[in-house]
Amino acid sequence: MTQSNKKQHKKGKLARFLSYYKPHLPLFLADMTCATLIAGVDVLFPMASRHALYQLLPNKDYGSFFWLMGILVIVYVIRSFLQYVVTYFGHVLGVRMEADMRRDLFSHIQTLSFRFFDKSRTGQLISRVVGDLFEIAELAHHGPEDTFISAITIIGSFCFMVTMNWKLTLVLVVVIPILLVFTLRKRLSMSKASKEVKSKLALINADIESSISGVRVAQAFANEKHEIDKFNDGNTKFKTSKTYYYKVMAEYQAGMEFITRILNVVVIAVGGALIMIGDMDIATLITFLLFVSEFLQPIRRLTAFMEQYSSGMAGFERMIELMDTPPDIADSEGATPLKDVRGDIRFDDVTFTYDGDVTVLSHVNLDIKHGQKLALVGPSGGGKSTLCQLIPRFYEPVSGSITIDGRDIKDVTLSSLRENIGIVQQDVFLFAGTIKENIRYGNLNATDDEVIEAAKNAEIHDFIISTPDGYDTYVGERGIMLSGGQKQRVSIARIFLRNPPILILDEATSALDTETEEKIQDALDRLSEGRTSLVIAHRLSTIKNADEIIVIDDEGIAERGTHSVLMEKDGEYATLYKAQFAVHE
Ligand code: ADP
Repeated sequence: MTQSNKKQHKKGKLARFLSYYKPHLPLFLADMTCATLIAGVDVLFPMASRHALYQLLPNKDYGSFFWLMGILVIVYVIRSFLQYVVTYFGHVLGVRMEADMRRDLFSHIQTLSFRFFDKSRTGQLISRVVGDLFEIAELAHHGPEDTFISAITIIGSFCFMVTMNWKLTLVLVVVIPILLVFTLRKRLSMSKASKEVKSKLALINADIESSISGVRVAQAFANEKHEIDKFNDGNTKFKTSKTYYYKVMAEYQAGMEFITRILNVVVIAVGGALIMIGDMDIATLITFLLFVSEFLQPIRRLTAFMEQYSSGMAGFERMIELMDTPPDIADSEGATPLKDVRGDIRFDDVTFTYDGDVTVLSHVNLDIKHGQKLALVGPSGGGKSTLCQLIPRFYEPVSGSITIDGRDIKDVTLSSLRENIGIVQQDVFLFAGTIKENIRYGNLNATDDEVIEAAKNAEIHDFIISTPDGYDTYVGERGIMLSGGQKQRVSIARIFLRNPPILILDEATSALDTETEEKIQDALDRLSEGRTSLVIAHRLSTIKNADEIIVIDDEGIAERGTHSVLMEKDGEYATLYKAQFAVHE
């Protein structure tokens, strides 16, 4: 990246950050107005005290003195109200912006393609959407408030002090930069240490996630101790980094305390000397001390802001990075919906590779007429699933084209394309929720009656109503309470509900025992009726009646034809079939 490019990139980032203020402008303005008024009160307080001590008391003007004190009480009541507004609405503003960013990031992740998810780790993505944006809320409101209030207080106090006594102000001019440099350095090392703590915490999170997901495997292998050791390792690293963080924090606080206390001593010492030589009076010295204490607050704030800025922006940068990952598969310009689909599918000279090295599909030609059943068989890893995944555009072919009813799938909208395709896979994912919700996932607008109808078609209705909660039965995060066959039926019911003209059955029954498979086969046969279907089957008995069978191996399409033609040919298919037949005998 060139220097100017870098600059532009940076500018873009800040501009994008600022754009999140836009929807919440009234809240932001209210917050800033209150913050400015607070700063004003803080700057005026020492001057009011000075007036009381310097003018009113010596002149025995007790009436005005108590009036002034009364006014100060009222002003502080108002200030505490303003403080409430700033703390409450300021945080609300930050949280809203954080939620907006999270919403945008989540929506963007939803658009990314399979290829992106192949390369990403779930735990990392979660930490990006959740963890990275944690500090943004703080930065979003503390940033402007703190810089603004601090600037007003520092400049205001400074002006007053110079007019009171420039010599004593000089003391501050010398000490304050030392204080600034010290706090800044310590704050930055605190921020570094806190980043380290976060990365260790992320590791712990990843360990917990993987250990809990794999707890069944761990227990099956009696490897619990190994898991505990692995976890303890990460936990110790976390402990060390957090301990270091507290060390830096202690240094910061001790140092800060020292410098601020010493500052008071120096001011009193120099102020005392100035009084001795008759260059200043006591009231001015007291006012000065009040200003010094007002001064320290904004300095603390400014340095805290630097730290917040660096960690908040780091999170925002990571968000931008993900937001700028373009979905490599998206609607092309001018894409129109795919409507009234008959279900003729054509592969025209399709070549595909995942990584550019190994060509999984090479110059594949296929012609599937609507309502026909095409079976894909062959050794594992041949490319059967890959071929099917090209139809809903989960991946894009390197060359060649795929058409549905003569329309290139690249020219139709992704959502309409996918709405017309139903996929049943070996691995069924059930969302945490009720059975009804899980079936309804096939068509979110379906009525209860339609859900029940679909369940009946998938032959799972009787089971559902036999459970105590019926359709409201909760299925765990991965549908753990259901058997493999039952889960598969739920996924078949989803497709009945969706009613797509094109169907892909990707080893839908391979994980099931033969008996369950036979039962589910009825439901699948019913599902396939009148639809164009592509079936990947492990057990060849289930696809004997297919209109065409294609044998795919590492070389590509090895054989094609009907069952009887291929058996007669006595090639790869016949060998596979006979082998299974022999086993079943
Ligand atoms: P089949 O369905 O015939 O068992 P697949 O289509 O699943 O075969 O896989 C074909 C080849 O592509 C295999 O070599 C497999 O390792 C590879 N492959 C499958 N999915 C991916 C993926 N998401 N990323 C990279 N390579 C993949």
